[in-house]
Order: sequence, then C-alpha cells, then structure tokens
Amino acid sequence: MAGRRPRTALVATLVAVALLALGASRPADAAPASPIPVPVPVSRALDLLAAGDARSATLSGPSGDVTLTLRAGGRVLTTALPYPALVEQAVAAARAGDVPLRVTRPRAAPTAATPAPSGGGFDPVVFMREWGGMILLLVLVAFTGLALRQVGGARFGHRVKPVRSVTRFEDVAGIDEIRDEVTEIADVLSDPERFERVGADLPRGVILHGAPGTGKTLLARAVAGEAGVPFFSASGSEFVEVYSGLGAKRIRALFDAARKAAPAVLYIDEIDAVGGRRTGAPGSGEREQALDQLLTEMDGFRTDPHRPVVVLASTNRIEDLDPALVRAGRFDRRIAVGLPDRQAREEILGVHTRRRPLAPGTRLADVAAFTAGMAGADLAALCNEAAFEAARGGRETLELADFRRALMRLAAGPEKRSRVMSDEERALVAYHEMGHAIVGHLSPRCDPVERVTVIPQGQALGVTIALPTEDRFLATREDCLQRLAMMMGGRAAEELIFEEQTSGAADDLARAHRLARRMVEDLGMGAPTTERSISPEDGPGGEEGVERRAAKLVEDAYLQARGLLARHEETLHHAAARLLAAEALERDDLHALLGPRPSAGRLTPRREAVVAP
Ligand code: ADP
Ligand code: ZN
Ligand code: MG
Repeated sequence: MAGRRPRTALVATLVAVALLALGASRPADAAPASPIPVPVPVSRALDLLAAGDARSATLSGPSGDVTLTLRAGGRVLTTALPYPALVEQAVAAARAGDVPLRVTRPRAAPTAATPAPSGGGFDPVVFMREWGGMILLLVLVAFTGLALRQVGGARFGHRVKPVRSVTRFEDVAGIDEIRDEVTEIADVLSDPERFERVGADLPRGVILHGAPGTGKTLLARAVAGEAGVPFFSASGSEFVEVYSGLGAKRIRALFDAARKAAPAVLYIDEIDAVGGRRTGAPGSGEREQALDQLLTEMDGFRTDPHRPVVVLASTNRIEDLDPALVRAGRFDRRIAVGLPDRQAREEILGVHTRRRPLAPGTRLADVAAFTAGMAGADLAALCNEAAFEAARGGRETLELADFRRALMRLAAGPEKRSRVMSDEERALVAYHEMGHAIVGHLSPRCDPVERVTVIPQGQALGVTIALPTEDRFLATREDCLQRLAMMMGGRAAEELIFEEQTSGAADDLARAHRLARRMVEDLGMGAPTTERSISPEDGPGGEEGVERRAAKLVEDAYLQARGLLARHEETLHHAAARLLAAEALERDDLHALLGPRPSAGRLTPRREAVVAP
C-alpha cells in the first residue's frame, strides 16, 4: 500500500459514515453563506471574550439596550446587555482576553432637516466645479491611507498581543500517545533551568500535524495554559494574503513581541500557507519573502535559556512543507496528532458532555462505537447537536438515541417532512434506497444499515445511512468492492424494477467513481493481484489507464449489485412497500424484514503455518 497520501486519510475515507442519498446531487461543499448572528447566553459570550476565543467584538445600541456582537470560530454571535454592569463586565472580559472591542455610537435622534441654502453668497454648483476635483482627491487619499492601515496594522495589530490561555491538558482528551511530548514542552517553558542543568537542547520549533479538527490548536493553547505563559497566535495565511512586504513585516513583529514577552508560546496555524515548498513560480514572490523571514526568525532566535520561546505550528499537509523549514534547529520536532481511536473518542465525548447530563443508562462507550473516523471537532459538534435533540424532545438529559439522531442530522442535514413528492417519485425513491439497503445488508463487509428513509433530507429525497461498528485500519480489496456494490445498489434497483435511470443516482455514481479511482491510484487494487498503483502522472496513457480500470470496477460493482437484487427481487418489492408505508425503517426493522446478515468470516490464512517442533 504505497499510497502517496498518509494512511490516516485512507482510514478516514473508508471508515467514515456511509451515506447514500437519492436526490438532486448537491454542489460539493457549497460555500457557506455569510454568517447570520446566533443568539447566545451572556455567560457564554463573556467566556469567549475572556478566553480570547473571539476575533473581534462590538457594542452597539443606546444605553439600557446594548447589544454585544462577537465573531468567533467563523460565526457571529450576539447577546443583549440590558444592565450597565453587564456592559462593564463585557469590557473587562474583552480586556482579559485581548479581544479588540469596538463601540458603535447610538445614532443621534433625527433632527429637523436643515433648510437648504437659499441663494446668497454660496452656490454649491460653482463650488463643486472649482473645488470638486480636489475634494475627491483628498477623499481618495484618505481612503487609501485608511485601507492600508486596515490591512497592515489595525487588523493584525491585536494579534501581536498575546492572550492568557485558559485551556489545560485536561481539556484535550485521548492524547495518551503524545501526552509525554507535549507535557515536556510545557515543562520546558515553566521550568527551563531544570532542562538546562542537564545540558538538554530546548525545543525551538515543533510541528503538530494531523487531520483537521484533531485538536492541534487546542493542544497549542493547552501548552501555553499549563505553563502559564503568554500565547501568541497567527495563521499562516495572514502572512501571504497581504500587500507586498507586509507578510514578512508581520512575521518579524510577531517574533519580536514573543521574544519580549518570553517565556511564551508562539503558534502559527496552517503553516503550509506560508511554509509550502518554494516553486519560484511567478506570483509566489510574496509568499517566499514571508517564508525567508520565517526562516531567519527561527535561526536568529537565540533563545535565552532562562526565557524560552517555543514556536508551535500546525498543518495537515506536512509533506508539502519546504525542506528548509523542517531542518535541524528550525521546526525539527514533529508530533503526529491522529484521528482518535475508540477509547480516545470516548474520552473526548466525556470532555464535551461535562456540562451536559447524560440520561441513566446512556454510555459514551456506545457513542464512541458508532463514531469511527470522526475527529475531536466532529465529536464536539455531535455533543452539541445531541443536546439540541434532547431539548427538542423536551428532555434535560441526553440519551443514546439523541446521539444517533444527531449523527444522522449532521451527516445529511435536517429532515424536511413538509416537502411533497408525487407518488411516482416516492415509489422510485423507495426502491432506490431499498436497493442500497439490501445490497448493504447482504454484503457482510459493509457497515450495518442504520436507517433508510423516503423523507427529503438536505438535497436528497431519501437516504440510507450505514454506521461503522468498529475501527478499521486496513481495508481489504473485498471491503472496497462490497462498498462499491452498495453504492450502486440504488441505480441497480431502479433499472431492475423500472427499467429506467433517474438523475438522483448521479451522486452515488460520482462517489463510487471516486472510491474506484482511489483503489486504482493509491491502493494498488485496480486488478486482483500484482498490479501496482498507477496514476495520471505515470506518463502517456496514465490517465486513461486509471480511468479505464476505475470504470471497470464500478461496472463490476453495478453488475454485482444487480445480480444480488435480482436474486432477492421478492424481498425488494416487499421491503420497498414497507418503506413507503412507514417512511423510515431502522436497523431492527430491517433485520425483521431481511433476515440475519451473512457473517463476514474472519480473514484466515488458507493453511495454518506449520511450526517446526
Ligand atoms: P485542529 O486545530 O486540529 O483543526 P482544533 O484544535 O481547532 O483542531 O479543534 C476544534 C475543536 O474540536 C476544539 O476546540 C475542541 O472543542 C474539539 N476537539 C478537537 N480535538 C479534541 C480533543 N482531543 N479533546 C477535546 N476536544 C477536542
Ligand atoms: Zn443512492
Ligand atoms: Mg486549528
């Protein structure tokens, strides 16, 4: 398995929730609309400010009716501050967290319109003709000056100031494998002499790498929080998306500030934005100038042994970093932050349900079991969504069912029961989804089907959801083939029953095609035995070779699915009718309808090895 991508990516793809939907294919990752303000409790807003977790904040409105608006984590949050004491607290919290706080003046009550000058000494037309050009020029100059300040100074200015991190290692769960390494960095910061006495080289640059949402930023904050030192942070993109020369300046300003405040943690998020490989391509000059500055700062960093600055950086594309950046003396330590395994997921869920009481009998271990492939950020979102589910049901504690529903909602969006479909459409959808479900049920290496619906959800008209029950770190060719067959089950059912194709299977086809291509390109699974991985870069014929083999895999999967359904056509009719009547069938209903699943059998060597006595 000489994949070019790291193995975790493979695991994530193969273990993630399989969601097969019939409907208008959704535009991949549609850009999120500009955020609408979400009301939050005052306590939460103040916490965010004090922890420095907000990017900016604004107070607006007349006194007695002040609104606080925050930007945090890409969202806009608001809360009302009806009492002056609350306004004071907000100001104090913004100070503590070093969040730039703006106040927009309440508008003065509209005054009576000033009467227009009636004749006399001043003629506006003449005035404009004579002075207009000059005024325009002055205004333009003022604007340009303002814009430059916005881009260069003001927006970045606050970042050069550190925050006091309130995050602790206990807030980062499931990190047993790397706990010693990160604890040591915190120790170095809080007691450098101890390391110096034994002649240990203090770490200077450490790269945290791993999939998005695995807690890299959280860890960096925790290191600063545990050591009780100031936390400076910036994102790599802040150094490249600016006017010429500014990126390098910002880097210098940040390092200078950190050195002054040492001991300190300096954190650069998404360092690949600035630290990617040099290409020398036209237009990359600005980025490379910033990278040079970063290298200089790392080298010129004569860390005062008594007051060290540790530079932490994170990326999810470590292989793309410029080799100069990871050379000895620069970012020469790496800590891999992996996707959490089952045990780690349980611990992370524990952290995020601290303030959300569980119903008696609800075990987080069970939630951990069906969330294979999810990162810490996904689990945090899941707990939040589960709390919403409980609230919707008018309950004060979280049940296992809340987590299941939350997962399905996160995977496919809210169900839209109000959307009306014609009877013909509903029948098509029922057969299509049941096709997925039956092929999945009869393919032992597919994850068990959790729920099938003919309820519109997100862009889809119905969905089939399969959830993993265990972590898998290795996919066999057979796993992939059965998964492909399940993806093609919808289309196969349509053609078998209606001798017709619908546009709704387009998403399934695209998804199947992607998996097939990965099998060919990365996994060396294009053909049964010895063929190595091939890729479009393999010279002439590479792309066609990949395409031809992938198409063959999808075609075979379709035939496999269709064959299975043809052999179980009676079951398909019966189950589709039940689905139409019930709108949604759960795992237990499916077992009752379809019977027990064939067992997967363990992978065993064909012949036991003979051990010599
Ligand atoms: P990354 O920087 O790796 O993309 P973040 O640190 O930004 O991930 O994680 C986003 C959020 O997900 C965190 O603020 C936290 O709520 C949650 N989270 C991620 N990993 C963990 C973890 N190991 N333990 C607890 N919470 C986590
Ligand atoms: Zn489908
Ligand atoms: Mg991050």
